[in-house]
Formats: sequence, C-alpha cells, structure tokens
Amino acid sequence: MLKYLRKNAKTSYDPSFIPGLGFCYKGLESFGNLGEQVEFFRALEKVGAVNSGKSLSLSVLKCSSCDFPYFCIKNVCTFCKSSSIVRGAAIEHDVCGNVDFDYKYNSVNGKLICDKCNKELKALGVDYSKTSPYYKCLQCNSALPSIEEHNGCLQCGRFLTHDDMQILQLFTYKVDSKKLYTIIDKNNYLDLLNVKLNDIGVNSSFPGTITGLSKIEHTFDLVVYDDKDNNTPLLVGDFLESSSLDSDGTNANGEKIALLLLSFLGKCIDVKVRNKIFISFSKLSDRLKVLADTHGINLVEIRPLNEDGNVGVHDDDVGGGSSDGGNIGSRSQTDYVSQTADTIYRLSRSTANTNTKGIADIN
Ligand SMILES: [Zn+2]
Ligand SMILES: [Zn+2]
Ligand SMILES: [Zn+2]
Repeated sequence: MLKYLRKNAKTSYDPSFIPGLGFCYKGLESFGNLGEQVEFFRALEKVGAVNSGKSLSLSVLKCSSCDFPYFCIKNVCTFCKSSSIVRGAAIEHDVCGNVDFDYKYNSVNGKLICDKCNKELKALGVDYSKTSPYYKCLQCNSALPSIEEHNGCLQCGRFLTHDDMQILQLFTYKVDSKKLYTIIDKNNYLDLLNVKLNDIGVNSSFPGTITGLSKIEHTFDLVVYDDKDNNTPLLVGDFLESSSLDSDGTNANGEKIALLLLSFLGKCIDVKVRNKIFISFSKLSDRLKVLADTHGINLVEIRPLNEDGNVGVHDDDVGGGSSDGGNIGSRSQTDYVSQTADTIYRLSRSTANTNTKGIADIN
C-alpha cells in the first residue's frame, strides 16, 4: 500500500462505494479490505504521513468479532426466529381488526371483502387502512409489524444484530508526500538489501536456517555464508518484526523488542555464529543498546522519522554512507540499504580473514 501511495501521488483519499466491493479507499482495494485500509491510514497518521483532520466522511458497520466490514442480511421473525418471511402490501380492516395481504380481500365481483368478518370494505380511511410493508412469518404464521435483521459477516460467518455491530469511521486522509517518502518500507528494504548484497558479492540467504548444537533448526531473517561451495555461516541477522509504522518509545514496545533481542541472542548462541546483526525499525532504548553491546550484537537502528520529520539512522559502526537516493532532502531507503550492506560486508569479511569458523563470541 505504501508503494502504491508513493507512486500514485494523490493528495487525498476519500472512502467511496464500489459495486461488488463495498466501501473502500479507491486504489487500495487490491491490498486489503476496508478495515485493513483504515488500519494502514491510522498507522500513517501516527507518523504524520497523512492527516485526517478528524473530518469524518462516513461511518459504516463492522463485525464485532473479526472487524470485517461486509455482510449479507437475512430477515428474522421476532417471535420464532425463523427466516421464512414474506413481505407485501396489507390492508387492516378497522371494524374487526383483521390484517392481511391486500390480495386476500379481493373478491370475484371486484369488491373488497374481509375474510374474517365477511363484511365489505367501504372506503380507504373510513373503515380500512393500508399498511405497508407487511411481513408475515410462514413458520409461526404471525403478522409482523417489524422484523429483525441479522447480518452475516462474510468473513467469520457470525450473525449479528444491528446493535451488536461496531461502527467503523471513515475519514478523508490528506497525504503529506514529503513525510510519506521518509517512511521505511520493511519489505522493500529487505528486497533492496538482498540485491545490494548480491551485487557486492556477499553470499546471503533471506531467510536462512541453521541447525544449532541443540539439533534445533533456527530460522534467521538473514544468513551470510562464506562462499557458494562451502556453506559455513559467517553472519546471522534478524529484522525486528515490529513495523516501522509503530508508534515508538512506549514501554510495552520496549519490552517486546527486548524479548525479540534475547530470543535472537539465544538462537545465535545455539548456532555458534560469531557475527550477529540486529536491525530495528523502531526506536531502541539505551538499556537495549547495552544489552546488545554486552553480547556482541551489532545493532542497526533505523528510525522511520525523527524530530525534524526526517529519517535518521543510528549505526555507530558504519562510516559515511553514500547518498545516491536523494529523496526530497532527507535520507532515503537506498542510503540505509547501502549502510546496512556495508556493515554486513565488513563483518562477514573480518570473519573470513581471521578464519574463525563458528566461534560464539560471548563476552
Ligand atoms: Zn415466526
Ligand atoms: Zn373484518
Ligand atoms: Zn466477522
């Protein structure tokens, strides 16, 4: 979606109704359902890349179980809950109170005769009235002044009444294209890194698996091997799963990152690979930096946005990166890719030169 937004260069996004699809933000429908599109915009708004100005465009309903916003509706009898319901125009005979479909009053001579009291109906508004629509349950034979509507979620299959459903607010989002370009797209980043490592002759695998001393097979987001014939791992790396769009700096997020870092460390110890690189797309606390440093993990912290609204990379090991990206005066994704690739190259090279094969380096 991020790629599409950058390419499309539209300045604002409005929800619109597309037959066969339902409500969606036009252009984004192929990337996910309405709920996912809204989540995406909310995440972008957190980092200032879009702004809704809280201008509510419209509100729709979503499933309270699974958040899906598309339904199929069935009529339900308020008495017996059957869905065997018919609807039509009806006549109420005020004299006897009989209510029935209008065709039931038709007689052979063209006059309207009440089935219940057998009297002729005189004039509309005088002794009878029309009620429409009129519902009747064929299961319990009840006349229904109103019916229930049960909305079947097209994703999880639950049927919900109107009040059971939740409201999904759809805003108009204005795009700040400058900030949009400063957001790092993790998938794209990994693709570019893969290409870059290939270019500079680093034999890498995204992801890669190594069997540890425990005989457990560990998967790393990245494994660098010494060369194509001898598959000795020189370097392993993990990329923090947390999205670049997460709001950073919260305690909860910090704890999550600490656990991921420790789990990465555990895998590294088991596979006895010396060089470890951990790339984070979220802000890392000083505590985590110390933790990483203590265990010889090379941290690359990629900040989606810093205080100036520009992206910032924090990698103490890397010298000046190239600046071939040139995106609107701030550092581009290409800069980070080059820097990360340089770090990986340098680390795996240092191991190759000293020929230390698979020695865990735990200080
Ligand atoms: Zn019924
Ligand atoms: Zn009657
Ligand atoms: Zn659902």
